Amino acid sequence: MIIGGGLAGLSAAMTLRGRKKIFLAEKETRFGGLAATVRKGGFHFDYSGHLLHLRWPETTRLILGALGSNVRRIRRDARVFAHGRWTPYPFQANLAAMPPRVRSECVSGFLRALAAGGGAPGDGTGRLCPQSVPGALRPAGSETFDKWSGRVFGAGISRYFMLPYNAKLWQYPLGRLTTEWCAPFVPVPSPGDIIKGAYGAGRRAIGYNAVFHYPKKGGIGALASALAMKAGETHLGIEAERVDLRARTARVRHFGEISFKRLINTAPLDEFVAMCSDAPAAVRRAAGLLRRNTVYVLNIGARGVKSDMHWGYFPGTGFPFYRAGIASNFSRALAPSGEASFYIEIATDGRALDLESAEKACVAGLRACGLIKDARQVTEKMWLKIPCAYVIYDADRARALPVISGWLKERGARSIGRYGAWKYSFMEESVKEGLEAGREILAGRS
Ligand SMILES: Cc1cc2nc3c(=O)[nH]c(=O)nc-3n(C[C@H](O)[C@H](O)[C@H](O)COP(=O)(O)OP(=O)(O)OC[C@H]3O[C@@H](n4cnc5c(N)ncnc54)[C@H](O)[C@@H]3O)c2cc1C
Repeated sequence: MIIGGGLAGLSAAMTLRGRKKIFLAEKETRFGGLAATVRKGGFHFDYSGHLLHLRWPETTRLILGALGSNVRRIRRDARVFAHGRWTPYPFQANLAAMPPRVRSECVSGFLRALAAGGGAPGDGTGRLCPQSVPGALRPAGSETFDKWSGRVFGAGISRYFMLPYNAKLWQYPLGRLTTEWCAPFVPVPSPGDIIKGAYGAGRRAIGYNAVFHYPKKGGIGALASALAMKAGETHLGIEAERVDLRARTARVRHFGEISFKRLINTAPLDEFVAMCSDAPAAVRRAAGLLRRNTVYVLNIGARGVKSDMHWGYFPGTGFPFYRAGIASNFSRALAPSGEASFYIEIATDGRALDLESAEKACVAGLRACGLIKDARQVTEKMWLKIPCAYVIYDADRARALPVISGWLKERGARSIGRYGAWKYSFMEESVKEGLEAGREILAGRS
């Protein structure tokens, strides 16, 4: 049994197809999970920007093979809007556009951090991955984000970008947010790149997403549709409601009780534990410690948009959103001719957003940064809500996960994917975990 028809569940089903009898239950009426695309008024809207950052040969071949000729490779044009002006992303390697006072505070803060033994690691690739970062600079699980940022980037870069941007994104105190997630996602340029970027032309191709792939047509949902065709017996619109891992039975809406030999879960881990009737009290308590934020995505269609930018980061408190992008700049087919489509992301700590006032503030924000000139350019709007968007990394998560995964292991069940494994990951990783879980089952590993 596989719970969930997102990329992780579909990839597991593809691996098992023809070798094991599969029952894949997806509660929505479409595949793809977060990597789905919805249509409205001639627009295709994703659940915010969903770009393929491919790094492993096997999954790259699988994903590009599934998309066939329906995919394009794109060089990122991402920017940061700060102090009333745009600078290329990442901020820390492109300080030249900032006002002189801000720039010198950032550079002197960085040099002080370097002298104190922190400072960016200087591997020159600008990519921060665990292997390339000397041990002392590697984010230690227990180090909090505010301390890590100050140690690695110094006070100025932290004050003007790292802290305000991440506070908006995570909606969780940065003095409690731990840093295990930072490695692939926060680019740490070399000291040389930081200095060059402050006094000359900065390097733009830094970070994990400098180049990405995206479908030419159909939005990111085209990938899930392609994988679903290879996934065998799958069921849409049916929800796993209750699971008993000891008895190996599940209650599935519209189907009733079914039996399984092996189970792969891809639903959010806290919800999955709540669904398991045989979960002991300690495991339920551990699941109760898991926290997540919620992201509301306002999709907007607009006429007369001139920018070529793919997306921008907004650390400033004057903007309610942390990021906004122009999806039709990845694929013209996402918007009707002559129009552009924006996605605008606002995070909350789970609290409901007042959509009417948020919408006004978003349109005002687009005007303030010059992406549109007039609210009358807007032709279409659609809110999409992601109730479980980013899982919170903190001491409670570190305590809870071993308790839950230890119990799941005892019961021979797997919980994979971004939310099943409760981590900050990306589409390719969900595909990889699906393939691996399927293979372990084929190899007879419980
Ligand atoms: C704002 C945002 C932006 C992102 N941008 C990118 C990006 O640019 N590039 C990138 O690579 N990744 C991005 N991601 C991450 C990406 O969306 C995920 O890594 C990936 O889609 C997760 O796939 P999954 O299969 O693990 O989980 P999901 O997509 O969550 O799939 C789980 C599935 O389980 C189903 N389900 C849940 N409960 C039940 C139940 N009880 N019964 C049956 N079915 C159930 C759900 O409906 C869902 O379809 C982004 C994520 C967010 C939040």
